[in-house]
Amino acid sequence: MNLRYQKLKARLGMSEMVILDGGIGSEMLRRGVTWESHKVESEPDEIRSIHADYIRAGADVITTNTFQLARRSYMNHFADPAHMHRVGAQDLEARPPALIREGVKRAMEARERTGRDAVLIAGSMTTLDWCFRPDMAPSVDAMRTEYRETVEWFENSGADLMLFETFNSSKEARMALEAAREVGIPAWVGFVPDDRGRLLNGEDAAQVATALAGIEPDVLLFNCAPVPDITRALGELAKVYRKPIGGYAHVGRFDPPDWMFTDEYPPDQYLAAARAWAGFGAQVLGGCCGTTPMHIEALKSGLPQTLTN
Ligand SMILES: [Zn+2]
Repeated sequence: MNLRYQKLKARLGMSEMVILDGGIGSEMLRRGVTWESHKVESEPDEIRSIHADYIRAGADVITTNTFQLARRSYMNHFADPAHMHRVGAQDLEARPPALIREGVKRAMEARERTGRDAVLIAGSMTTLDWCFRPDMAPSVDAMRTEYRETVEWFENSGADLMLFETFNSSKEARMALEAAREVGIPAWVGFVPDDRGRLLNGEDAAQVATALAGIEPDVLLFNCAPVPDITRALGELAKVYRKPIGGYAHVGRFDPPDWMFTDEYPPDQYLAAARAWAGFGAQVLGGCCGTTPMHIEALKSGLPQTLTN
Protein backbone atom coordinates (compact mmCIF):
# COMPACT_ATOMS: atom_id res chain seq x y z
CA MET A 1 0.00 0.00 0.00
CA ASN A 2 1.65 3.25 -1.10
CA LEU A 3 1.53 6.58 0.73
CA ARG A 4 -1.09 7.96 -1.64
CA TYR A 5 -3.42 5.07 -0.82
CA GLN A 6 -2.71 5.25 2.91
CA LYS A 7 -3.91 8.86 2.87
CA LEU A 8 -7.05 7.90 0.98
CA LYS A 9 -7.74 5.08 3.41
CA ALA A 10 -7.39 7.50 6.30
CA ARG A 11 -9.96 9.75 4.61
CA LEU A 12 -12.35 6.79 4.27
CA GLY A 13 -11.84 6.10 7.98
CA MET A 14 -12.85 9.68 8.77
CA SER A 15 -16.09 9.31 6.76
CA GLU A 16 -14.89 11.74 4.10
CA MET A 17 -16.53 11.68 0.70
CA VAL A 18 -14.31 10.36 -2.10
CA ILE A 19 -15.10 11.25 -5.70
CA LEU A 20 -14.49 8.84 -8.55
CA ASP A 21 -14.33 9.77 -12.23
CA GLY A 22 -17.07 9.16 -14.80
CA GLY A 23 -17.29 7.15 -18.01
CA ILE A 24 -14.12 6.77 -20.08
CA GLY A 25 -15.12 4.55 -23.01
CA SER A 26 -18.43 6.38 -23.46
CA GLU A 27 -16.66 9.74 -23.14
CA MET A 28 -14.33 8.69 -25.98
CA LEU A 29 -17.43 8.04 -28.09
CA ARG A 30 -18.97 11.36 -27.10
CA ARG A 31 -15.77 13.03 -28.31
CA GLY A 32 -15.94 11.16 -31.60
CA VAL A 33 -13.43 8.35 -30.98
CA THR A 34 -14.55 4.72 -30.97
CA TRP A 35 -13.70 2.59 -27.93
CA GLU A 36 -12.62 -0.50 -29.87
CA SER A 37 -9.29 -1.87 -28.54
CA HIS A 38 -9.32 0.73 -25.75
CA LYS A 39 -7.25 3.16 -27.89
CA VAL A 40 -4.72 3.64 -25.15
CA GLU A 41 -1.94 3.51 -27.76
CA SER A 42 -3.58 4.96 -30.86
CA GLU A 43 -5.41 7.87 -29.19
CA PRO A 44 -3.11 8.83 -26.30
CA ASP A 45 -3.97 12.54 -26.39
CA GLU A 46 -7.72 11.98 -26.19
CA ILE A 47 -7.45 9.51 -23.30
CA ARG A 48 -5.03 11.72 -21.43
CA SER A 49 -7.27 14.75 -21.79
CA ILE A 50 -10.34 12.83 -20.59
CA HIS A 51 -8.42 11.71 -17.49
CA ALA A 52 -7.20 15.28 -16.96
CA ASP A 53 -10.73 16.66 -17.34
CA TYR A 54 -11.96 14.26 -14.66
CA ILE A 55 -9.14 15.31 -12.35
CA ARG A 56 -9.96 18.98 -12.90
CA ALA A 57 -13.65 18.20 -12.31
CA GLY A 58 -12.68 17.00 -8.84
CA ALA A 59 -12.09 13.23 -9.05
CA ASP A 60 -9.93 11.89 -6.22
CA VAL A 61 -9.58 8.56 -8.01
CA ILE A 62 -9.37 8.08 -11.78
CA THR A 63 -9.79 4.74 -13.52
CA THR A 64 -7.70 3.41 -16.40
CA ASN A 65 -9.21 2.68 -19.80
CA THR A 66 -8.44 -1.04 -19.48
CA PHE A 67 -11.86 -2.55 -18.75
CA GLN A 68 -11.48 -5.90 -20.51
CA LEU A 69 -7.82 -6.73 -21.03
CA ALA A 70 -7.24 -10.15 -19.53
CA ARG A 71 -5.49 -12.63 -21.82
CA ARG A 72 -8.83 -14.43 -22.20
CA SER A 73 -10.36 -11.45 -24.03
CA TYR A 74 -8.10 -12.23 -26.99
CA MET A 75 -8.10 -16.00 -26.57
CA ASN A 76 -11.90 -16.11 -26.80
CA HIS A 77 -11.70 -15.23 -30.50
CA PHE A 78 -9.90 -18.51 -31.27
CA ALA A 79 -10.41 -22.25 -30.93
CA ASP A 80 -7.36 -22.71 -28.69
CA PRO A 81 -3.86 -21.24 -28.14
CA ALA A 82 -2.41 -23.16 -31.11
CA HIS A 83 -5.12 -21.79 -33.38
CA MET A 84 -4.42 -18.28 -32.14
CA HIS A 85 -0.71 -18.66 -32.89
CA ARG A 86 -1.45 -19.95 -36.38
CA VAL A 87 -4.05 -17.43 -37.52
CA GLY A 88 -3.91 -14.52 -35.07
CA ALA A 89 -1.79 -11.37 -35.23
CA GLN A 90 1.65 -12.17 -33.93
CA ASP A 91 1.60 -9.85 -30.94
CA LEU A 92 -1.72 -11.00 -29.44
CA GLU A 93 0.03 -12.84 -26.62
CA ALA A 94 1.85 -9.68 -25.58
CA ARG A 95 -0.99 -7.26 -26.16
CA PRO A 96 -2.92 -7.42 -22.84
CA PRO A 97 0.09 -6.51 -20.64
CA ALA A 98 1.21 -3.90 -23.17
CA LEU A 99 -2.21 -2.22 -23.29
CA ILE A 100 -2.51 -2.30 -19.50
CA ARG A 101 0.91 -0.66 -19.22
CA GLU A 102 -0.09 2.01 -21.74
CA GLY A 103 -3.48 2.53 -20.07
CA VAL A 104 -1.93 3.13 -16.64
CA LYS A 105 0.67 5.38 -18.25
CA ARG A 106 -2.00 7.62 -19.81
CA ALA A 107 -3.57 8.14 -16.36
CA MET A 108 -0.16 8.85 -14.79
CA GLU A 109 0.61 11.40 -17.50
CA ALA A 110 -2.71 13.15 -16.81
CA ARG A 111 -1.90 13.22 -13.09
CA GLU A 112 1.50 14.73 -13.79
CA ARG A 113 0.15 17.33 -16.20
CA THR A 114 -2.54 18.50 -13.80
CA GLY A 115 -0.05 18.62 -10.93
CA ARG A 116 -2.46 16.78 -8.65
CA ASP A 117 -0.15 14.21 -7.13
CA ALA A 118 -2.67 13.01 -4.53
CA VAL A 119 -5.02 11.64 -7.22
CA LEU A 120 -5.06 7.86 -7.25
CA ILE A 121 -5.02 5.64 -10.29
CA ALA A 122 -7.35 2.68 -10.10
CA GLY A 123 -6.64 -0.15 -12.52
CA SER A 124 -10.00 -0.97 -14.09
CA MET A 125 -10.62 -4.67 -14.63
CA THR A 126 -13.89 -6.47 -15.19
CA THR A 127 -14.72 -10.18 -15.03
CA LEU A 128 -12.53 -12.54 -17.04
CA ASP A 129 -15.34 -13.42 -19.40
CA TRP A 130 -18.44 -11.40 -20.30
CA CYS A 131 -19.35 -9.11 -17.40
CA PHE A 132 -23.14 -9.46 -17.76
CA ARG A 133 -23.01 -13.30 -17.93
CA PRO A 134 -22.18 -14.97 -14.60
CA ASP A 135 -22.81 -18.35 -16.25
CA MET A 136 -19.77 -17.81 -18.48
CA ALA A 137 -17.28 -17.50 -15.62
CA PRO A 138 -14.19 -19.72 -16.01
CA SER A 139 -13.24 -22.50 -13.57
CA VAL A 140 -11.79 -21.60 -10.18
CA ASP A 141 -8.34 -22.79 -11.25
CA ALA A 142 -8.40 -20.69 -14.40
CA MET A 143 -9.61 -17.68 -12.40
CA ARG A 144 -6.80 -18.07 -9.88
CA THR A 145 -4.12 -18.06 -12.60
CA GLU A 146 -5.65 -15.34 -14.76
CA TYR A 147 -6.43 -12.87 -11.98
CA ARG A 148 -2.97 -13.28 -10.52
CA GLU A 149 -1.37 -12.64 -13.89
CA THR A 150 -3.52 -9.63 -14.80
CA VAL A 151 -3.35 -7.96 -11.38
CA GLU A 152 0.45 -8.27 -11.52
CA TRP A 153 0.47 -6.39 -14.81
CA PHE A 154 -1.44 -3.53 -13.20
CA GLU A 155 0.77 -3.51 -10.13
CA ASN A 156 3.95 -3.50 -12.23
CA SER A 157 2.55 -0.65 -14.32
CA GLY A 158 2.13 1.59 -11.28
CA ALA A 159 -1.61 1.49 -10.49
CA ASP A 160 -2.35 2.59 -6.89
CA LEU A 161 -5.26 0.19 -6.47
CA MET A 162 -7.42 -2.27 -8.40
CA LEU A 163 -11.01 -1.42 -9.25
CA PHE A 164 -12.71 -4.73 -10.08
CA GLU A 165 -15.84 -3.36 -11.69
CA THR A 166 -19.04 -4.56 -13.30
CA PHE A 167 -18.72 -7.89 -11.45
CA ASN A 168 -21.54 -10.42 -11.42
CA SER A 169 -20.87 -12.85 -8.54
CA SER A 170 -19.22 -12.88 -5.13
CA LYS A 171 -17.37 -16.04 -6.16
CA GLU A 172 -15.46 -14.29 -8.92
CA ALA A 173 -14.98 -11.21 -6.71
CA ARG A 174 -13.33 -13.40 -4.08
CA MET A 175 -10.90 -14.79 -6.64
CA ALA A 176 -10.02 -11.28 -7.80
CA LEU A 177 -9.61 -10.03 -4.22
CA GLU A 178 -7.41 -12.98 -3.30
CA ALA A 179 -5.17 -12.24 -6.29
CA ALA A 180 -4.88 -8.57 -5.24
CA ARG A 181 -4.00 -9.59 -1.71
CA GLU A 182 -1.29 -11.97 -2.98
CA VAL A 183 0.15 -9.33 -5.30
CA GLY A 184 -0.05 -6.73 -2.53
CA ILE A 185 -2.24 -4.08 -4.13
CA PRO A 186 -5.39 -2.61 -2.49
CA ALA A 187 -8.69 -3.47 -4.19
CA TRP A 188 -12.25 -2.24 -4.49
CA VAL A 189 -15.11 -4.20 -6.07
CA GLY A 190 -18.12 -2.91 -7.99
CA PHE A 191 -21.07 -5.24 -8.65
CA VAL A 192 -23.83 -4.78 -11.23
CA PRO A 193 -27.22 -4.85 -9.50
CA ASP A 194 -30.48 -5.87 -11.16
CA ASP A 195 -33.75 -4.02 -10.59
CA ARG A 196 -34.26 -5.81 -7.24
CA GLY A 197 -30.82 -4.90 -5.90
CA ARG A 198 -29.47 -8.39 -6.49
CA LEU A 199 -26.34 -9.38 -8.43
CA LEU A 200 -26.80 -10.77 -11.92
CA ASN A 201 -26.29 -14.29 -10.54
CA GLY A 202 -29.18 -13.77 -8.09
CA GLU A 203 -27.25 -13.16 -4.86
CA ASP A 204 -28.79 -10.60 -2.53
CA ALA A 205 -26.88 -8.10 -0.38
CA ALA A 206 -26.82 -10.32 2.70
CA GLN A 207 -25.47 -13.25 0.68
CA VAL A 208 -22.75 -11.06 -0.82
CA ALA A 209 -21.76 -9.75 2.62
CA THR A 210 -21.50 -13.31 3.94
CA ALA A 211 -19.64 -14.60 0.90
CA LEU A 212 -17.00 -11.88 1.13
CA ALA A 213 -16.43 -12.32 4.89
CA GLY A 214 -12.72 -12.17 5.65
CA ILE A 215 -11.71 -10.79 2.27
CA GLU A 216 -13.85 -7.65 2.06
CA PRO A 217 -12.61 -5.02 -0.39
CA ASP A 218 -11.70 -1.64 1.14
CA VAL A 219 -14.78 -0.30 -0.66
CA LEU A 220 -17.73 -2.32 -1.95
CA LEU A 221 -19.65 -0.58 -4.72
CA PHE A 222 -22.49 -0.99 -7.19
CA ASN A 223 -21.94 0.19 -10.75
CA CYS A 224 -22.99 0.01 -14.39
CA ALA A 225 -26.75 -0.01 -13.87
CA PRO A 226 -29.43 2.68 -14.16
CA VAL A 227 -29.69 5.20 -11.33
CA PRO A 228 -32.81 3.67 -9.65
CA ASP A 229 -31.15 0.21 -9.57
CA ILE A 230 -28.03 1.63 -7.91
CA THR A 231 -30.24 3.42 -5.38
CA ARG A 232 -32.12 0.24 -4.52
CA ALA A 233 -28.96 -1.88 -4.29
CA LEU A 234 -27.15 0.59 -2.01
CA GLY A 235 -30.22 0.80 0.22
CA GLU A 236 -30.23 -3.00 0.58
CA LEU A 237 -26.48 -3.21 1.11
CA ALA A 238 -26.50 -0.48 3.78
CA LYS A 239 -28.82 -2.63 5.91
CA VAL A 240 -26.40 -5.56 6.15
CA TYR A 241 -22.88 -4.26 5.56
CA ARG A 242 -20.76 -2.06 7.79
CA LYS A 243 -17.61 -1.30 5.74
CA PRO A 244 -17.20 1.57 3.23
CA ILE A 245 -19.61 1.43 0.32
CA GLY A 246 -20.09 3.43 -2.85
CA GLY A 247 -21.72 3.55 -6.24
CA TYR A 248 -21.62 4.89 -9.77
CA ALA A 249 -24.52 4.54 -12.16
CA HIS A 250 -24.68 4.70 -15.91
CA VAL A 251 -26.72 7.24 -17.81
CA GLY A 252 -28.08 6.15 -21.17
CA ARG A 253 -28.40 2.77 -22.84
CA PHE A 254 -25.96 0.08 -23.91
CA ASP A 255 -26.02 -0.03 -27.70
CA PRO A 256 -23.41 -2.73 -28.45
CA PRO A 257 -20.60 -2.09 -29.03
CA ASP A 258 -21.32 1.60 -28.49
CA TRP A 259 -23.19 3.70 -25.96
CA MET A 260 -26.45 5.58 -26.51
CA PHE A 261 -26.54 8.88 -24.68
CA THR A 262 -29.84 10.02 -23.16
CA ASP A 263 -30.74 13.12 -21.19
CA GLU A 264 -32.46 11.27 -18.34
CA TYR A 265 -29.91 12.34 -15.77
CA PRO A 266 -28.24 15.65 -16.48
CA PRO A 267 -25.62 16.60 -13.85
CA ASP A 268 -28.03 18.27 -11.41
CA GLN A 269 -30.39 15.30 -11.37
CA TYR A 270 -27.50 12.88 -11.10
CA LEU A 271 -26.31 14.84 -8.08
CA ALA A 272 -29.75 14.55 -6.49
CA ALA A 273 -29.52 10.75 -6.86
CA ALA A 274 -25.98 10.72 -5.46
CA ARG A 275 -27.18 12.67 -2.42
CA ALA A 276 -29.61 9.84 -1.72
CA TRP A 277 -26.73 7.33 -2.01
CA ALA A 278 -24.72 9.39 0.49
CA GLY A 279 -27.80 9.22 2.71
CA PHE A 280 -27.35 5.43 2.78
CA GLY A 281 -23.75 5.94 3.89
CA ALA A 282 -22.15 5.58 0.46
CA GLN A 283 -18.96 7.61 0.51
CA VAL A 284 -17.25 6.72 -2.78
CA LEU A 285 -19.32 8.13 -5.60
CA GLY A 286 -18.71 8.67 -9.30
CA GLY A 287 -20.20 7.91 -12.70
CA CYS A 288 -20.28 4.91 -15.03
CA CYS A 289 -21.00 4.72 -18.78
CA GLY A 290 -22.53 7.89 -20.23
CA THR A 291 -21.53 10.20 -17.39
CA THR A 292 -19.22 13.11 -18.17
CA PRO A 293 -16.80 15.47 -16.42
CA MET A 294 -19.82 17.76 -15.86
CA HIS A 295 -21.47 15.01 -13.78
CA ILE A 296 -18.33 14.63 -11.67
CA GLU A 297 -18.06 18.36 -11.22
CA ALA A 298 -21.64 18.39 -9.94
CA LEU A 299 -20.82 15.66 -7.40
CA LYS A 300 -17.68 17.44 -6.27
CA SER A 301 -19.39 20.75 -5.69
CA GLY A 302 -22.77 19.47 -4.50
CA LEU A 303 -22.08 16.54 -2.16
CA PRO A 304 -21.24 17.07 1.51
CA GLN A 305 -17.53 16.65 2.24
CA THR A 306 -18.20 14.10 4.95
CA LEU A 307 -21.03 11.69 5.63
CA THR A 308 -23.48 13.31 7.94
CA ASN A 309 -25.09 10.27 9.58
ZN1 LIG B 1 -21.01 1.26 -17.07
